[in-house]
Amino acid sequence: MSASRQELRDLVAAFRTHLEARSRCGALGVPRGPSPVTSPALSLAEPDAPEEPTTPYPTPPPVLYDEGQVMHSGRGLTALRAEIGDCQRCKLARGRRHIVFGMGHPEANLMFVGEAPGAEEDEQGEPFVGPAGQLLTKMIRAMGFERQDVYICNVIKCRPPQNRNPEPDEIAACEQFLRKQIAIVQPRVIVALGKFAAHYLCGETTPITRLRGNLRTYREIPVMPTYHPAFLLRDASRKGEAWSDLKQVMALLYHMGLR
Ligand code: SF4
Repeated sequence: MSASRQELRDLVAAFRTHLEARSRCGALGVPRGPSPVTSPALSLAEPDAPEEPTTPYPTPPPVLYDEGQVMHSGRGLTALRAEIGDCQRCKLARGRRHIVFGMGHPEANLMFVGEAPGAEEDEQGEPFVGPAGQLLTKMIRAMGFERQDVYICNVIKCRPPQNRNPEPDEIAACEQFLRKQIAIVQPRVIVALGKFAAHYLCGETTPITRLRGNLRTYREIPVMPTYHPAFLLRDASRKGEAWSDLKQVMALLYHMGLR
């Protein structure tokens, strides 16, 4: 068989396949070419359907922090850190060296929340790395954990100048990040270190000397207020009270079957 005859047969076979496919789709014939005389006014044709987008529309980002939709784990924390970015939401941004986000196990059962970074935390970008941090590490070890077993962060992520107390507008601007960190990590127990963390998490302004050792809750998570390690460095006579508070936390974790 000559090449041209074979090509003709292939062409006929392809055309037949095409007709069968059109028939299955409900087409009644083969359209003729465009008429040489067309009148747009008499056209009965449907308006062109909108073309399918060649790339899918971007899906909206997931809502990470609504109830029940939290991205639990390190991915959630990474997304939150990206959300904070080079934050300029309050005036503490001007004097900081690093945003001190938080560190530790992203699904820790036990979370420690302090007040704000100090000079060394600001320098290194990690929470509780100065002398107070070394004492916190000892406290954590005394409870039978290592730092990497728990999650550690502060209410405020940037250092206030000269370590002054955080101001209400700074807390108001920054607390959303702690709220989201807690929602992501989902700790079973929180230890509030010092007055600011205790007042924020417990929702009351009782002096820390009376608030400490008394279990409270934050969104149904048990919160144990106790002294800040920096305060314990200044007044070692309070260490016994702090240890008593931490023993309550250990008992609570034991009761929950987490120790
Ligand atoms: S303290 Fe918080 S709100 Fe203020 S700049 Fe730092 S990260 Fe942003």
